Amino acid sequence: MSHPVRVAVIGAGVAGLAVARELRREGLDVVVFEKSHHLGGTWRYDQRIDSDPVGSDPNREVVHTSLYRSLRTNLPRQLMGFLDYPFPDRPDGDSRTFPGHEEVLWFLNKFADEFGLVGLIRFGWEVVRVERVSGRSDSWVVESSTCDSVLSREIFGAVVVCSGHFTQPRVPTIPGIEKWPGYQIHSHNYRVPEPFRDQVKCVSEDRLVAFDDGSSVYADVILYCTGYKHHYPFLETNGIVTIEDNRVGPLYKHVFPPALAPWLSFIGITEKDIIFEMMELQCKWVARVLSGKVLLPTEKEMMDYVEEYYQQIEKDGFPRHMTHYLHFKEIGYCNWLAAEVGLPPREPWREEMYLESIKPLLLGTLENYRDQWDDAHWNAIIKDASLTQK
Ligand code: FAD
Repeated sequence: MSHPVRVAVIGAGVAGLAVARELRREGLDVVVFEKSHHLGGTWRYDQRIDSDPVGSDPNREVVHTSLYRSLRTNLPRQLMGFLDYPFPDRPDGDSRTFPGHEEVLWFLNKFADEFGLVGLIRFGWEVVRVERVSGRSDSWVVESSTCDSVLSREIFGAVVVCSGHFTQPRVPTIPGIEKWPGYQIHSHNYRVPEPFRDQVKCVSEDRLVAFDDGSSVYADVILYCTGYKHHYPFLETNGIVTIEDNRVGPLYKHVFPPALAPWLSFIGITEKDIIFEMMELQCKWVARVLSGKVLLPTEKEMMDYVEEYYQQIEKDGFPRHMTHYLHFKEIGYCNWLAAEVGLPPREPWREEMYLESIKPLLLGTLENYRDQWDDAHWNAIIKDASLTQK
């Protein structure tokens, strides 16, 4: 394989930072485009919200993050770091096992500083178009723009998409919604509880919300917690990569479109797993494939895999929009990635801790679970595991 000279990475969130580190480790030349003036992506809290709180107006002003002010991680800090760069305790920081979002941003800044990644990032440059140079799969035009519309056009050997997928609200169509007089907002735009305090006390006939099972409520606010859409407005692949009902495809192992591999790849499309670890392994895989150290199967073999995977999802009764959810579908996914890049499988304590941390979600017992976490129990398990390793 001829090596790409330069790799364009789109986004400087967890995925973009992690892949920049891995690409550089493989000796590749990296430019990270970041449309905002900061790194951290989702983890940079912003009190502003979109100009359309539901998020359906395509011309609205968009705020990238979906964090609310009081958000704490949904995984314990031991699962919020990278494999070789754990999430540390710091005496002057938020020492809770499930820390607030500020602590994660602090960690990402520290990670970027420590590995010299900040200098690779072009802050304030939004990628507006990515397209193959005609007839070549290893040559891509990347157009980017500043907020005052200065446009730049460059050629790269490969593009890694790390633009996140928790910004574009997925909003259901509800018959009659255009006449409903209450306030509507998607969770992407929820920041603080104060504006909603005491509102449902007041009902009026006009504010009826009816449900399929015949029940109804009077409400002042509809808060859509209906998820997000994958959205790549900059990407032009002549129909090779499509998004159908939130399935981005075809993608081999949720990363490489077979017909464009390895020159185009996506990090972090998958969800419902230990996110940082999963993304880090995807990044290592992409970097090693691009450096020629790890080989991909043929295009046909990758397509066959994708087809089989789709058939399996359907057979198991999972809807298409859950294509990239790993829970219970692809339990061995991270171990497969680890094997590809020569790492051992996930340590058992990590898997056990992850399963324990998603139990409240599955059982609907989310309230207080973070503060009822049995630290002593888990610390003992981790200590035992590290002694066994020695
Ligand atoms: P992002 O963090 O979204 O970063 C994408 C970056 O790309 C942004 O900086 C954006 O500005 C930039 N960008 C986008 N488009 C362009 C463009 N065209 N040109 C240039 N730059 C662009 N994960 C956990 O592990 N634990 C948790 O507790 C947790 N809680 C979460 C809570 C919420 C409310 C949400 C929404 C997500 C949560 N996640 C959690 C998942 C979280 O998304 C990941 O941890 C991680 O932030 C994803 O990183 P990313 O780099 O893929 O995307």
